[in-house]
Amino acid sequence: MSPLQPRHRETQELISRLEARRARRRRLRLLWAVAALAVVVIIAAIGATVLTQSSGPAGATTSATVATSTGSSGSAVTPSSHINTSLSHPSSSSTSPTSSTPSTSAAPSTSTTLVSTTTGPPKVVVIDPGHQAKPNLDPEPIGPGSTQTKAKVSSGTRGVVTGIPESELNLAIGLRLRKALEAHGIKVVMTRSTQDVDISNRERSEIANEARADLFIRIHADGNGNPEVNGIHTLYPASIRGWTDDIAARSKEAAVLVQRELIKATGARNRGLDERSDLTGFNWSDVPVVLPEIGYMTNPTEDRLLATDAYRDKIVHGLVEAILQFLGLQ
Ligand SMILES: [Zn+2]
Repeated sequence: MSPLQPRHRETQELISRLEARRARRRRLRLLWAVAALAVVVIIAAIGATVLTQSSGPAGATTSATVATSTGSSGSAVTPSSHINTSLSHPSSSSTSPTSSTPSTSAAPSTSTTLVSTTTGPPKVVVIDPGHQAKPNLDPEPIGPGSTQTKAKVSSGTRGVVTGIPESELNLAIGLRLRKALEAHGIKVVMTRSTQDVDISNRERSEIANEARADLFIRIHADGNGNPEVNGIHTLYPASIRGWTDDIAARSKEAAVLVQRELIKATGARNRGLDERSDLTGFNWSDVPVVLPEIGYMTNPTEDRLLATDAYRDKIVHGLVEAILQFLGLQ
């Protein structure tokens, strides 16, 4: 035994006391860190809840993919309306499911594919400029499981004075609308951005479904055998059980806003709303869908107006107002 041993013991005791104190401090620091972390997590959770509630359901980001097939030429314009090319009246159809009362609005489920740091995921609008350079008169079912068919894409109407094809006018409006909506932070998917495509009405709906659009807007202009007929009307899907019963109510809400804002913006004749059960592009849709007919290209005055930048701006302005309201962004 060394004579230094008592001192050594004292040193050992001192060291262990110091170590114990250090350990206590360490535990305290850890406790503080855990408490601080908990506060941060709670604040973040509250923030996220508030954001989710204020921004509502979000759409997924999906790029449009489109199947192409060979087009055929021909025209299917009826005197009353270019889009009313159904061979049989909807009510006489034996293949359509029976109508039913609309269910509650069909909000697409939430996705967090695109997350903005401040405002949550952007709303998604799918714009479908009606028709294309060449029609495709091959048949396709007017709705899921239907044996009733209609042409994949009809030819559309044409400016009686300007000669502008409807597909070209629809595209011009659609591209302007995309720019305007993107300026409001809305994610836009176009079913087409050129004339030279071959995309059926069913495929256009499927693009909107795949994009989980908050709104699917189909831009069209009208034609009529009577050149006097003019004005704007907006089409929306009838509630058909198994097809559109989940989107009918919300679609009509959009149609009401679109029609009101288009008339306000343009001063055109208000032809009101039209509920339709025969449109392929409605019946395949799983997202709220509307189809504004932005004017009659067979009316000389309206045809000239629709060819001007100023009037096109008015149309786009009306559509933007309606869409912002519909999406709860205004
Ligand atoms: Zn059309």
